[in-house]
Amino acid sequence: MSEPTRTPLLDVPAEARHRVALLRDVPTGELLIHEIYLSVQGESTFAGLPCAFVRTSVCSQRCTYCDTPHAFTQGTRMARADVLAKALAFGCPLVEITGGEPLLQPDVFTLMTELCDAGRTVLLETGGAHDVGAVDPRVHVIMDLKCPDSGESHRNHWANLAKLKPTDQIKFVIASRADWDWTASAIREHRLDERFACLVSCVFGRVQPVELVGWLLDSGLHRVRMQLQMHKYIWEPTTRGV
Ligand code: SF4
Repeated sequence: MSEPTRTPLLDVPAEARHRVALLRDVPTGELLIHEIYLSVQGESTFAGLPCAFVRTSVCSQRCTYCDTPHAFTQGTRMARADVLAKALAFGCPLVEITGGEPLLQPDVFTLMTELCDAGRTVLLETGGAHDVGAVDPRVHVIMDLKCPDSGESHRNHWANLAKLKPTDQIKFVIASRADWDWTASAIREHRLDERFACLVSCVFGRVQPVELVGWLLDSGLHRVRMQLQMHKYIWEPTTRGV
């Protein structure tokens, strides 16, 4: 796997560059890391499995429902080799890179390749605003398509749909009936449910799971999977490091 040819920070539009300023001083070979921990995977077809998480700092987006705003401004610079060693030390076959937005940091691409080379099943959670083209093809990409009520749907990088693999997954987080209507239209227009695993979940406290199940069943989109934000039910909604 070659090094990515693009500098991810160049993908950030001018009006959002101040959000990623912390990353400008991170040298090659290092990452800005928010936390590394062992928990259970919560939001994908891997949900429920033990998983080692590497959460990177900083995000170029500001979703209205974000539950990791603490990752926007806090982080520790770590050598990539140390991040790799810490993630492997849990001895867990499943490793997820999440954020913040992992694809903002060039060394993330190499880290994912190194984790795959070490025999791990690697998941990447990305907000969908940045190019996934340089991600190691062995990685399972779990990509958001941001719905309008996130406030960030204008940043969806639609060209990613041509770069995802059949083993990748698309996630929609639904905050309203309007978000559901937008989701159903996007799935139909791009035949997403025939190409990828598609998952829908509700914003905790804004849409009730029973409402979303009703909309899903009424739509006839029978390949789309309903999921709950598992962490919100197991732990207190504000608990970190889970
Ligand atoms: S993309 Fe994820 S981390 Fe970034 S603001 Fe949205 S929910 Fe938060």
